[in-house]
Amino acid sequence: MLQRDAYKELEDTIGPENVSEEQALLDGYAWQPSFSSSPKEKLDIWLWRPRPEAVVLPGSTEDVQAILKVCNRYKIKFKAMSTGWGAWNSPGTEGVIQIDLRRMNKILEINEENMYALIEPYVVGAQLQAEAMKKGLTPHIIGAGANTSVLASSTSMGGYGGTGISTSMSGRNVLGVEWVMPNGDILKLGAPGSNAGWFCGDGPGPSLRGIMRGMFGAAGGLGVFTKCAVKLFHWPVPHEVHVEGLLLDTMIKIPENIKFYFCFLPSFERFADAAYKIGEAEIGYMLVKQTIGSTLATMAPHLLRAIAQNQSIKAALNAFEHIFMFMIAANSKRDLEYQEKALKKIISETEGVLITISDMPTTASMALWGSIRSSLTPLAFRYSSSFATTLGSLVAWDNAVLQSKAGSEIKKQFVERGELFEDLVDNPWGGIYEGSTCFGHQEEIAFFDAHDLKTHKGWVEFEKTCVQAAVDTPMGVGISALGKGDIFGPLAGNYHIWQRKVKKAFDKEDLADSTYYITPEEK
Ligand SMILES: Cc1cc2nc3c(=O)[nH]c(=O)nc-3n(C[C@H](O)[C@H](O)[C@H](O)COP(=O)(O)OP(=O)(O)OC[C@H]3O[C@@H](n4cnc5c(N)ncnc54)[C@H](O)[C@@H]3O)c2cc1C
Repeated sequence: MLQRDAYKELEDTIGPENVSEEQALLDGYAWQPSFSSSPKEKLDIWLWRPRPEAVVLPGSTEDVQAILKVCNRYKIKFKAMSTGWGAWNSPGTEGVIQIDLRRMNKILEINEENMYALIEPYVVGAQLQAEAMKKGLTPHIIGAGANTSVLASSTSMGGYGGTGISTSMSGRNVLGVEWVMPNGDILKLGAPGSNAGWFCGDGPGPSLRGIMRGMFGAAGGLGVFTKCAVKLFHWPVPHEVHVEGLLLDTMIKIPENIKFYFCFLPSFERFADAAYKIGEAEIGYMLVKQTIGSTLATMAPHLLRAIAQNQSIKAALNAFEHIFMFMIAANSKRDLEYQEKALKKIISETEGVLITISDMPTTASMALWGSIRSSLTPLAFRYSSSFATTLGSLVAWDNAVLQSKAGSEIKKQFVERGELFEDLVDNPWGGIYEGSTCFGHQEEIAFFDAHDLKTHKGWVEFEKTCVQAAVDTPMGVGISALGKGDIFGPLAGNYHIWQRKVKKAFDKEDLADSTYYITPEEK
């Protein structure tokens, strides 16, 4: 429980209606079924993170600043959360207050001319995209789903998404940023640091992109971000798309300039070659490895459970393991024809098979719109109750594809022993970024039941084995590296030493909970 004086000051600062220490409410924040086992891996905290001491709901940057000043006066730790999708937003220890930013939910500007949006923390991908599309623009939405905060993945975490080939990744899309430092001071990065607008993250004004977030972000360990501008990208559909239904029932009339394909390749090598050629041809709106296993787990979990019992169907489906989804969103009929012609040539040169899914009735419009909106991700919990991913470093594409091969080989043993759910084994997710640059990632998905000891333990062991393989091979710094700088740092320029120096310089009192970033001292 917080000191009474401190609690009273918080109430005086942002109003009693925006502060609570009601136990049932706090448990709502501590219950974190997704990714809870990382990084501590203790069975007793699988589904629960430490309960925050109190929750505060600021409504403005000034509120956030005032809260952090109180935290500094009373030496209280704090943890920011935007939309709270996954355990990383929760306190890592006792004695932390949760700063829930849901009241800061406004799109402050959509700048059509300079193609950026200025947003607050609780603006989600779906909301921003709906507004941007009205102006012929779209944001990058991460694969975690349209329900997640655009600001959180831009400033503080991850950033991979299925449309990365045309919309890059969050760490590269973030422009000007407003940052309340752990001591309560405000720092503006990029152009806003010189009162020159929000259009640029690296100047005029200070550029601290690497320190602010680097590859995966500080996961709340360096303060609270209260505003940021993000790039918007060209969206070529000239009219509003009429949508009926929700999720799996979604129906739209597929716009004429959009086409959607499954590309099947005969081997890991040809799969990699095809993406390189696509990058060189500079075509495509979306390229993402979305396997049959993941697709069934998301769309038809009962069918996957039935298939899991049948060896011959499994073997037949495994023949389609090297598969990616590809979407063209063209500017004109001529552009569409050009891109399709190039795609057909590439798939033929790489001995693959191309299926146009946009021509299939019913499912096509649901899958297409769900992919554009990134709205289907939460359905992946239907199959086994939980899933998680590992490996997935951002590397040259050949290397990423080899990671998926290594991950699948490790996973096979766990699936055969019944320690992970059957997902047809070769089940990575991810694609290439920024077209012709051809760096990309492949994260290995595994399905488990969070309430079942055998498969939940199976996931923890599987992740450990993959982390060890990533270190031994080495395979680069992937998804599982969050909070594990001491393991991965020696492989990558000793980044953990620098992270510790940054943490000490920016947060002398160690008040911003940095469980998923770096601990002040080596463990
Ligand atoms: C099912 C699932 C699928 C996922 N798939 C992907 C994927 O495809 N690609 C990908 O990149 N990631 C993925 N993730 C991880 C994803 O990056 C994060 O879950 C997402 O960014 C966080 O969700 P959120 O937007 O709700 O942010 P939150 O959960 O609110 O926060 C995420 C982190 O950022 C910190 N944070 C949030 N807001 C602020 C702020 N204003 N100031 C300072 N720190 C802040 C939090 O403390 C936390 O550590 C997935 C997660 C889940 C659960």
